[in-house]
Amino acid sequence: MNTLIVIGVIVAAILIIVVGFVLKFKSETAKMRPAETGKISENGYVIKDDFVNMYLIKDSIGYIAIDAGKGIENVKKGLKELNINADDVIAVLLTHSDMDHVAALPLFKNAKLYMAKEEVNMLNGKKQKIPFVNNKMSRSDYNLLDDKQTFKIGSHKINCILTEGHSSGSMCFQVNDKYLFVGDMLSLQEGKLGNSVKFFDLDHKMASKSIAKITNIPNVEYILTSHWGISKDYKNTVKDWKE
Ligand SMILES: [Zn+2]
Repeated sequence: MNTLIVIGVIVAAILIIVVGFVLKFKSETAKMRPAETGKISENGYVIKDDFVNMYLIKDSIGYIAIDAGKGIENVKKGLKELNINADDVIAVLLTHSDMDHVAALPLFKNAKLYMAKEEVNMLNGKKQKIPFVNNKMSRSDYNLLDDKQTFKIGSHKINCILTEGHSSGSMCFQVNDKYLFVGDMLSLQEGKLGNSVKFFDLDHKMASKSIAKITNIPNVEYILTSHWGISKDYKNTVKDWKE
């Protein structure tokens, strides 16, 4: 009898934790403000997939994607709306490996995959946001990037900035000087930088600290977030940032 009571209490406790998590997840994602699917510049595109954005930048040999959405069907729909063929995506840069950034990877069969080397810890379980839950990805043939690494994909120039905190290997990508993709490491609040969402962070304090790494990058014009839209006025957006 006693054992039954103990099991009942454990099951009830687990249920309360799970329900609490789901409710908090819903309330936090409901606050997010992603950009609508469309063209953002002469060669830049954004896809809205529920509460998250992914981006595409075009050059003469193809597109590079920044992240890969939370659902294959929504990303397919977005690509169709923008008249973009998934086969023309030659590379995917992952700001990190959370499930709302990697789901449509199977669509981009011709794309090389890139992420920060520190992000491997989110996949192998060395770092976990939720106990016993590792991030999962449909591919393991990723190319690993170092902080401050610069490289080229076609005519695209990529500059990597490691901004750990939201995950162990959260990385910002400065593409062709003027675009800065920041993933989930910060939010935009009325055109200004804001903190990331604590509930979704691996280490919220570290995430806040990392923001200072991206407030003084020459030649950036656009700052593009995964959940809080886009600012086309980088200088003004970063100007008054204080941790
Ligand atoms: Zn996210």
